[in-house]
Amino acid sequence: RTGALNESGSKPGSMSRWASERAAFEASLREAEQRGELTVCYQPRVDAADSALLGMECLVRWNHPKFGCVPPDQFIPLAEETGLIVSIGEWVLREACTQTQNWRAQGYPNARVSVNLSAVQFQDADLFGTVQRALGDSGLPAEWLELEVTESTLMGDPGATALTLENLKSLGVHLSIDDFGTGYSSLSYLKRFPVDTLKIDRTFISELKQEEHGEKLVDAILAMSDGLKLPVTAEGIENEVVLEALKRMGKMKGQGYHYGRPEP
Ligand code: C2E
Ligand code: MG
Ligand code: MG
Repeated sequence: RTGALNESGSKPGSMSRWASERAAFEASLREAEQRGELTVCYQPRVDAADSALLGMECLVRWNHPKFGCVPPDQFIPLAEETGLIVSIGEWVLREACTQTQNWRAQGYPNARVSVNLSAVQFQDADLFGTVQRALGDSGLPAEWLELEVTESTLMGDPGATALTLENLKSLGVHLSIDDFGTGYSSLSYLKRFPVDTLKIDRTFISELKQEEHGEKLVDAILAMSDGLKLPVTAEGIENEVVLEALKRMGKMKGQGYHYGRPEP
């Protein structure tokens, strides 16, 4: 289903075929939004201590007529290269805010929705306005929206990053650092950023299956979060073994297949 993008699978001399397939893929991504092929899923985020629901992460999907369900890893990079991510990201944000406000009206007022922002969106001059309009149009109070930015995005230009984060923060939204532990953060910059949560990358959490070595790594990350006085969410909790190891290590929020997969 992702053959259109798979350069490595090409035979010698098929570069032009790859390029034309890529162009076709780009064209269909452009149309996907208008044709209503983009959808979102939600994955629960819970308190690891008692599994109480705290919120959910909104994750985009592309229901391609030919390739089926295309996961974001397969089309977000192309959407970033082409700039399409800005309008796709805005659509996702509006969808998440509207749905969450509906859930609030139906009696689930205390769940915070988180939405991923790509590096390209983060640098978009109109990001502040986009978030402000999504909140205003949906009626969702800002405190129930969390924006996730990956650690590597934040480290691009720390001065500009701090300014963008402060602007977003002034709206009242929550901010989290996604895939934490993979982006070579500078602690002195991290301290300056007005973020609310660190999301420990799933690669570290899955290491917990492999006993001690994994625990030391996660412990080190938790010590860092402690120093920064930031709560953490562990991503990718897949089973009881991992969950029990995490519970021994401290208080945190959790997300992963153990609690629930992303669902429409
Ligand atoms: P992410 O933001 O770190 O999201 C978590 C990913 O881990 C999701 O993959 C989720 O399905 C997966 N996951 C959650 N729990 C488990 C688990 O227990 N085991 C395993 N193996 N995986 C788990 P997904 O939905 O394929 O998304 C991949 C990435 O694509 C996201 O990583 C995020 O960086 C990006 N993405 C998704 N939706 C959006 C979006 O709307 N906008 C942007 N810019 N990026 C998005
Ligand atoms: Mg995320
Ligand atoms: Mg992540």
